[in-house]
Amino acid sequence: AAKSSGRDRVHLFSPALREAARWRLEVATRLRGDAIDQLVVHYQPVIRLDTGQVEGVEALVRWQHPERGLLPPDTFLAVAEETGQIIPITRWLLRETTLKAAAWAAQGLNLRMSVNVSARHFSTETLVRDVRVALQHSGLPADQLILELTETSVAEDPTRAEDQLNLLRGFGVRVAIDDFGTGWSSLAQLFSLPIGTLKIDRSLLAAAERVAAGETGAVLTAIVGLTRTLGIRSVAEGVETVEHLRMVQAAGCDLAQGWLLGHPMPAERVPEWLREVRQAGGDVCALAAGGR
Ligand code: C2E
Ligand code: MG
Ligand code: MG
Ligand code: MG
Repeated sequence: AAKSSGRDRVHLFSPALREAARWRLEVATRLRGDAIDQLVVHYQPVIRLDTGQVEGVEALVRWQHPERGLLPPDTFLAVAEETGQIIPITRWLLRETTLKAAAWAAQGLNLRMSVNVSARHFSTETLVRDVRVALQHSGLPADQLILELTETSVAEDPTRAEDQLNLLRGFGVRVAIDDFGTGWSSLAQLFSLPIGTLKIDRSLLAAAERVAAGETGAVLTAIVGLTRTLGIRSVAEGVETVEHLRMVQAAGCDLAQGWLLGHPMPAERVPEWLREVRQAGGDVCALAAGGR
């Protein structure tokens, strides 16, 4: 009887649920093993909207899975976050990306390096040490590194977040709030923190397709006005079309990222891409808008 009820219970789970559970287990197991060696970093350009020059790049992690191919972060980072593996992963990423930025700088390619830091890592004592070690080891100047934190990582414990941010600022690292507009943190709380940059989530531009573009433009302009008042730089995420580009330029955003301006690319491609941009005049915005 026990056997048959066990079997019945199995039937309660759909194949999709079973596959999801199996995948979680595989990720958790492999990330404890050799999967860190299979992680790769792609870099997406961040563009200045006034000049169209390349300001820097954002590091985006992928997993080169031996059977499944190149996997995006949303397929494995949530599990890594739950198991705590996100901490050694980010420690590795900080070393990898600061070394890369220092190597590019040695070739005359000065790019600010943005690295995403999860809430779980941000709340630990080790983050500040991990950042300091990566900077010392690579020799990258601290002001060339930007840590991206989501609203939720700072909203959970604002007092502790402020201490942590001040420590980081103390040795010159910059901090950006990522995916702004997707969380529920209060503006007052967010803007009382020592942050340098606000990244406006791409859902706002995506909304321009559904609701009136005029309203999206007005919201963008209001957010940018707020950042200006506070001396914070703004980055528009998810610029996919020339219309999006016009909208974020009109709103006065400082910087932008998106498929129109540059896809995430492997490290080897970055110097080549920069050379191509330079040969074409150096203004990525003009190139993107003219390419239509
Ligand atoms: P994010 O930090 O907001 O990164 C931007 C995401 O938007 C990236 O997805 C990027 O490929 C994608 N993207 C860029 N331009 C466009 C566009 O024009 N249109 C659309 N639809 N998407 C665009 P990706 O690489 O899949 O990363 C997803 C998220 O995973 C990131 O969002 C970030 O929260 C997280 N993530 C990525 N790498 C890391 C990492 O190294 N550490 C941590 N903790 N999180 C990471
Ligand atoms: Mg980010
Ligand atoms: Mg973002
Ligand atoms: Mg986003």
